[in-house]
Amino acid sequence: MESITERCTGCNACRMICPQDAITMGEDEEGFYIPIINALLCIDCGLCVKRCPQNQKPRFRRNEVLQVLGARYKDDALLSKSASGGVFIGIATMILEQGEGAVFGCAFDENFVAHHICVMDFKDIAPLQSSKYVQSDIGYTYSQAKLLLDRGKTVLFSATPCQIAGLYAFLGKDYDRLFTIDLVCHGVPSPLLFKRYLDWLGKKYDGKIIYYNFRCKEKIGWGLGYKTKIKARTKIKTKAGFAENDPYYSAFLKGSTYRECCYYCKYANTNRIADLTTGDFWGIEQAHPQFFDKRGISLCLVNTTKGEELIAKGNNFELINSSLANAVLKQWNLKSPTLRPDSRDTLKKLIGGMDIFNTPLFKIAYKIRIKSAIKTIIPSSIVRFIRILKIAIVAGNRKR
Ligand SMILES: Cc1cc2nc3c(=O)[nH]c(=O)nc-3n(C[C@H](O)[C@H](O)[C@H](O)COP(=O)(O)OP(=O)(O)OC[C@H]3O[C@@H](n4cnc5c(N)ncnc54)[C@H](O)[C@@H]3O)c2cc1C
Repeated sequence: MESITERCTGCNACRMICPQDAITMGEDEEGFYIPIINALLCIDCGLCVKRCPQNQKPRFRRNEVLQVLGARYKDDALLSKSASGGVFIGIATMILEQGEGAVFGCAFDENFVAHHICVMDFKDIAPLQSSKYVQSDIGYTYSQAKLLLDRGKTVLFSATPCQIAGLYAFLGKDYDRLFTIDLVCHGVPSPLLFKRYLDWLGKKYDGKIIYYNFRCKEKIGWGLGYKTKIKARTKIKTKAGFAENDPYYSAFLKGSTYRECCYYCKYANTNRIADLTTGDFWGIEQAHPQFFDKRGISLCLVNTTKGEELIAKGNNFELINSSLANAVLKQWNLKSPTLRPDSRDTLKKLIGGMDIFNTPLFKIAYKIRIKSAIKTIIPSSIVRFIRILKIAIVAGNRKR
């Protein structure tokens, strides 16, 4: 038994490509999904290595983005459950309304393990909404998607760019009825780290985690705010706050916890792999102040004519035309992969140990705790006003 490649993204394509079923997915010492070859079944056909998207030039769909949009879904209830402006749910709704469609996306299971699943009925779509900042297990969803496509169904597949690359590598071709959405992506932590975090959180609040949302808009509106519920002996405790005040989330944002391949990601640029790319339209206050909405605005890159068709059909979005210059303004990962900080080495040493979330790697500085507490008290409208005021002052100074 041996692992296939050091730059492996854990996309599962090789497992589904293998004609001998000789590949299973295991975990490396940090808990990331890796393919394991069973030498007894392997016939050395080399397909796994040949078709692995990490061993090929990325199959970019376009050399340049066709349209750059700011987008907000018009349905308030569904928008409130989306991480940003609801591009995913808007397109998913359109596909499912046609009656012959299937939507693949990431959902937590009952143990908060992120998996890709297939939804064919709109009533089941909710778990797919919002970002799970942990690597998702693709399982056999590429094969499932192929089966549906071969039967003439319309398929929407939403995932990280490396997972979308895995899907195309598995399919070996594009389909007219296949639509793909990739994300602007920082990188992904391992399922093991997230499990250890939830265990730590449960211990801290003396109960079991029964809800976790990385992008809860209830308290702070659109931004990086989490909410969790813990079932304790006599009551359900609810905790919510800003990302920077949470050990797992702040380490995620600092880039200290990603899979090694994320620091060399070949999709962290504007030559995208999917029909559409979505992310948060950070910096919209600067680029298009009139379009800012505290309920959330998505950045949407339209990369193919199929992507253009989807957007043109969707009459349920508020849209604004923007530019690539605006898109990359606050999106480091549209320019290059996340820089690997030295602290990444520390994680490797710590992951197997006890009380990892009480170590300096995950410690939140007092200054940040205080800042975050103040932000919680001040209404988001005032925070936004201060932000716009700062932008206006900087712009005024530049003119002078
Ligand atoms: C790991 C990760 C890193 C990200 N990094 C950035 C970033 O640096 N900058 C930025 O602007 N945006 C980033 N995003 C995207 C952002 O968080 C929103 O997902 C995006 O704005 C789309 O939001 P939405 O409102 O359209 O839909 P949402 O309802 O929020 O989108 C849901 C869909 O996103 C996909 N998704 C969610 N979690 C995962 C996962 N773990 N793996 C694969 N697919 C997943 C699923 O298919 C899901 O159905 C990241 C997302 C993830 C998951």
